[in-house]
Amino acid sequence: MQIKIGDTTFEIVKGDITKQEVDAIVNAANPRLTPGGGVSGAIHRAAGKELWEECKKLGGCKTGEAKITRGYKLKAKYVIHTVGPVYKGSIEDEKLLASCYKNSLKLALEHNIKSIAFPAISTGVYGYPMEEAAKVAIKTIIDFLKENEGLELVRLVLYNDKAYEIHKKVMEEIIREME
Ligand code: ADP
Repeated sequence: MQIKIGDTTFEIVKGDITKQEVDAIVNAANPRLTPGGGVSGAIHRAAGKELWEECKKLGGCKTGEAKITRGYKLKAKYVIHTVGPVYKGSIEDEKLLASCYKNSLKLALEHNIKSIAFPAISTGVYGYPMEEAAKVAIKTIIDFLKENEGLELVRLVLYNDKAYEIHKKVMEEIIREME
């Protein structure tokens, strides 16, 4: 499913973040930027050990912030590492998750990146309920694209049918509210 915001295509797809042919993929990283498991483990495995060598030098990353590295063996030229909040059920969760998307998109523009793919940040080990996270992700991306030009494609990559269906429903609701 896709929509157009200004000149930018925003789409949700089912797939594997490591396989995306875009300028940058986003990693749902941990504060030390270690490979770990989940999306991060998969990205580090696909990129090769040079990615960890570069991450080591960055001095970690705070929750809600983002840092950029090269993509090494990935098809993507860059990896943007952002640290999602561990879900606690407080108002801070939403702010921090929104910051992850905003700061990653800002970093992409600063590096002249035209296409970027995100996973569903914080919805795995970090425990953010999928539908709540989808609302924050989709609203934040749309708001950013309304205010900023320069990106050609923003893609949200969902790992399974359930995650895709939830995001599709949320995106339809948000589009309806916009009309
Ligand atoms: P976090 O620690 O931020 O919760 P996780 O890596 O545990 O991050 O999971 C984030 C989301 O990414 C989960 O919904 C998970 O199902 C999904 N995911 C796991 N592997 C991949 C992959 N290769 N591509 C895209 N999404 C993935």
